[in-house]
Amino acid sequence: MNRSVINMGATLAGGIAFSALYVVNQVFSAAIAMRKSILTGAHVRCEFAGIANLFNCTRCPRLCDSRRAIVTGAGKFGVVMVVTGSPNYKDEAAGEPLIGWTGQRLAYLASLAGIVTLDEAGKSAPEIRLIRDEALQSIRRESVIMCRLPRNTKVTPKETANCAPYLLDTIATHLPQVIISLGTPAMKWFAPADTLASSHGWPHRWEHPNGTMMIHVAMHHPYAAYPSYIERAKVMEIDWWYLGETLAGRAPKSHAEFLKRRMETHAGDRWG
Ligand code: SF4
Repeated sequence: MNRSVINMGATLAGGIAFSALYVVNQVFSAAIAMRKSILTGAHVRCEFAGIANLFNCTRCPRLCDSRRAIVTGAGKFGVVMVVTGSPNYKDEAAGEPLIGWTGQRLAYLASLAGIVTLDEAGKSAPEIRLIRDEALQSIRRESVIMCRLPRNTKVTPKETANCAPYLLDTIATHLPQVIISLGTPAMKWFAPADTLASSHGWPHRWEHPNGTMMIHVAMHHPYAAYPSYIERAKVMEIDWWYLGETLAGRAPKSHAEFLKRRMETHAGDRWG
């Protein structure tokens, strides 16, 4: 064997050893950084690589600085998926979106559409709370933005775009037939040109970027029906009842027909 062949072999072996050391070093660095972030709450840089990397996502520096946890979706996957804008303090503490009073209200509204069944007759208030909490777990709930926004601030288009792959990934994986967005920020994610005032309750087709067609219905956020707003609560109840009609195959054929039927159902809807 001549000298140049030996040199080439040595260079090749050295290259392979170096590559192996580099890979080992990268794996250890990532593991140490991850452990450090879990222990100290510090953020580590991670590029988007699917849901598996979500727990240490740092794509939105402003939100990383204010959040205490990333709030992923919760509840059983099924025909319907409910999507809200972003988690609040309570959601963040519980680790799931749409809980507390809002979740209770959501369970009630979902029962009007026949999505869940609530057997509340003759039950006490604490018993009703338990029934609704249990029903809530059978509704899949997701957020457009998975980190809580700093108080009194709005999400930026960049942050919305940053988080979009997670929601798109979840929808593509679990393929709900009907997506219900709650409130304007969530509605704009699915139908940027619409306004909630004109389109709430209106079931229309939405196309996932992968070409899958689904039904999207924009609804007022259940939180907006806080007890002092009786009229809002009434409008919401009609919208969810109407959704039940859609799920039963009695959807209107056009937006004009939808608006006409809604006016017939709720003459005096001044709230929009
Ligand atoms: S909002 Fe979404 S993209 Fe932004 S840091 Fe949180 S999880 Fe990551």
